[in-house]
Amino acid sequence: MQLHNRIVIGLVAGATAGVAAHALAPQADWVLWLVDNVAQPVGDIFLRLLLMTVIPLVFASIVLGVAGFGDLRRLGRIGGKTLGYFLLSSALSAVVGLTLVNVFEPGAGIDEATRSQLLAGYGSDAAEIGSREIDVGVDMLVEIVPRNPFRAAADMDMLSLIFFALVFGAALTLIPRDRAEPMIRVIDALGQVVVKIIDIAMKLAPYGVFGLIFAVTARFGWELLQQLGMYVAVVLGGLVLYGLIGLSLLVRVFGGYDPIAFWRRSRASIVTAFSTSSSSATLPTNIAVAQGELGVPPPIAGFVLPLGATMNMNGTALYEGVTVLFLAQVFGVDLSLGAQVLVAALAVITAIGAAGVPGGSLPLMMMVLATVGAPPESIALILGVDRILDMSRTVLNVAGDLTASLFVARSERAAAARARASAASSDGTARAEIEASR
Ligand code: ASP
Repeated sequence: MQLHNRIVIGLVAGATAGVAAHALAPQADWVLWLVDNVAQPVGDIFLRLLLMTVIPLVFASIVLGVAGFGDLRRLGRIGGKTLGYFLLSSALSAVVGLTLVNVFEPGAGIDEATRSQLLAGYGSDAAEIGSREIDVGVDMLVEIVPRNPFRAAADMDMLSLIFFALVFGAALTLIPRDRAEPMIRVIDALGQVVVKIIDIAMKLAPYGVFGLIFAVTARFGWELLQQLGMYVAVVLGGLVLYGLIGLSLLVRVFGGYDPIAFWRRSRASIVTAFSTSSSSATLPTNIAVAQGELGVPPPIAGFVLPLGATMNMNGTALYEGVTVLFLAQVFGVDLSLGAQVLVAALAVITAIGAAGVPGGSLPLMMMVLATVGAPPESIALILGVDRILDMSRTVLNVAGDLTASLFVARSERAAAARARASAASSDGTARAEIEASR
């Protein structure tokens, strides 16, 4: 049986077992024991095996991608297209989220008692998230340039690592070919070793996914879902809508690819994203899917996808838009159209800055809340249901990265065809001139 089918079975079986355990023996000691001592550790080991490959994978694939482009003009062109697409698609998804939250007004249905109960229950978690350090504005830009690339790698500071890898790859194309060649071969081998490790780790995936999903569902309190049902429905509905219509259209129009085939072939990425809640942990699978299933050339997949795992988060942008407005509604903060445009812009920017790990966007969202005048601690209200929303938004985050790689691959093919055509025609003109001069 193919691996992704086995992973899907792990997912469904884990969810079923978890839901059953929660329904039949809610919060029973033995269920909690199983979660803490079996399911969660197995899931975490799987997650860590993937995460342990991310630093060398990002470095190797970006350097090889940039070196594979050959010259810096091509790097500039592809980089520009990639970033442009990231911004466009994230803005689109944020607008979808904001529209839905305005139409359905999920915040209007939360009464005073529910509000204070949730605030009290999750207040300390919110305070802990709020205390995490984040850089925004000019500082964020400065911090992207690492003082020490090894420190950036050790801290999993992906933007800085990407920056270093881009500069490293670019410099490789600037030194003499015979000097660059051995380095490229070493990094190529590094990339292959990492891919092998991922291959081995993925053999654990069906069990890891079972464990991760079981741990979430067995512990989950459905009561919260009743209280926050409308909010959860708006986020999930928005994600489904944006995925099925928005992303499918982008795949068709910009990627020139059949959306149904796209979703079918991306299954492995979708399941991995859903069960790990982490774009970074899904990166290895995403690169394999883009190259093996969608036919994206390796340098492009190796360049666009690591960038996307950190910078392109369509699902997160949508989720942030909905959540900020929802909390503003609950706390009676009236947001004008101008303020909502600001929320959309901030959702896109913070989605770029958010780490591709579970709950990576939460500290940044607190900053957005503060900026528009809503209390940042109000995030406590939604923490209890965040995991399921995190799993779902991460699916769209990684699917969005795949659509970006399809778009860049297609437009590069078109550019190459144009270049060939113009070379052929100038060749033809040159030949004609020679003929004429004879
Ligand atoms: N978990 C998300 C991701 O990895 C980030 C977030 O929205 O919290 O893509």
